[in-house]
Amino acid sequence: MPDRTQALVDAIAARREDLVALTKDLVRMPTLNPPGVGYLEICQYLEKRLASGGFEVELIRAEGTPGDSDTHPRWNLIARHSGNSPGDTIHFNSHIDVVAAGRGWTFDPFAAEEKDGKIYGRGTCDMKGGLAASIIAAEAFIATFPDYAGAIEISATADEETGGFGGVAWLAEQGYFSPQRVQHVIIPEPLNKDRICLGHRGVWWAEIETHGRIAHGSMPFLGDCAVRHMGAVLAEMETSLLPALAKKRTAMPVVPEGARSSTLNINSFHGGLAEPEVEYTGFPAALVPDSARMIIDRRYLIEESADEVRGQIIDLLERVKNARPGFEYDLNEMWQVSPTLTEKSAPVVEAVAKSIQNVFGRAPEYVVSPGTYDQKHIDRIGRLKNCIAYGPGILDLAHQPDEYVGINDMIESAKVMALALMELTGST
Ligand SMILES: [Zn+2]
Repeated sequence: MPDRTQALVDAIAARREDLVALTKDLVRMPTLNPPGVGYLEICQYLEKRLASGGFEVELIRAEGTPGDSDTHPRWNLIARHSGNSPGDTIHFNSHIDVVAAGRGWTFDPFAAEEKDGKIYGRGTCDMKGGLAASIIAAEAFIATFPDYAGAIEISATADEETGGFGGVAWLAEQGYFSPQRVQHVIIPEPLNKDRICLGHRGVWWAEIETHGRIAHGSMPFLGDCAVRHMGAVLAEMETSLLPALAKKRTAMPVVPEGARSSTLNINSFHGGLAEPEVEYTGFPAALVPDSARMIIDRRYLIEESADEVRGQIIDLLERVKNARPGFEYDLNEMWQVSPTLTEKSAPVVEAVAKSIQNVFGRAPEYVVSPGTYDQKHIDRIGRLKNCIAYGPGILDLAHQPDEYVGINDMIESAKVMALALMELTGST
């Protein structure tokens, strides 16, 4: 390795204790979402650190976005460090929110305990470890190349776990991710230290409701059972739609392999009287249900369009309608995200690929995420295509009990990020 490259790698290694302490501090702030707590506290903590390293820091509240209130304000941080001369801006975007700890932990989820080279806790891998690694990478780079050209930005954003509307989507709408301001984006989500995530599948959520007619449960023939109508919808899904989706394969390198086809999850199902409407004793009123509702979570491929996805469900419902007397339905679309895929030849991909090669002595694996993350907003709203996810941690551990991030993995991915900064700023 040339001298300054080696100096940069050494500067990361020398910051090991700092990286561990920073990660632990972040994990010990339980920024649970929902409802979205502690955003201001974590932004102020990061502000202090980044401002002392020469970053200009803005704390921005996404006022009026879903969930934003005076009790749960949606705070975001954007920090910018400018080099010595004009050049590209490289932006690291991390979300600060974490999902509920849930059951099954053997560690305290917010104590950030260290054991056998790993830090345990909610948000360690998704994605406070990645945030910490990107800060260390930026600080080490700036210390080693104080004369660099361009700018480095670090953002810490709200609400990724609930769609990113009070976070990256809102910032993108304000122009913070416009191609005039930012040229390269790295999102340090936990996709493993030697893989580059080029994008994600699309999402289409809808609620299907079937209607019936209420009657006394002792004389069901006087009514019309909405749950049986929904049963027919489910049967049609089992026999025709799900097998067809499983056969639809994509050229996107989605991991895990099982997600390389179209998928549909039945998110929830409810039939009969809504439980809060009855004094629920476990012994409900004897009624024929006049309504059944089902929420479906459809994940689709770059080869499919939202129109096709919607059309399949409408066709299916119409087939059932033609076959079943009395079948009536409503279809309410809830949420749609288009698939996104950055080209392998994009500058940020090439820079990170070269850096992975330098650190690990092998080419990266290119992957696509089965689920969506904030890249969608950077692509659709920010109109910035030069964006990837790259960061430490194992994706499968995200949202699980005993989530952890490996300290060596954070160090190595910080080296990759720092070398990518060298590459993208043209520093030698
Ligand atoms: Zn995440």
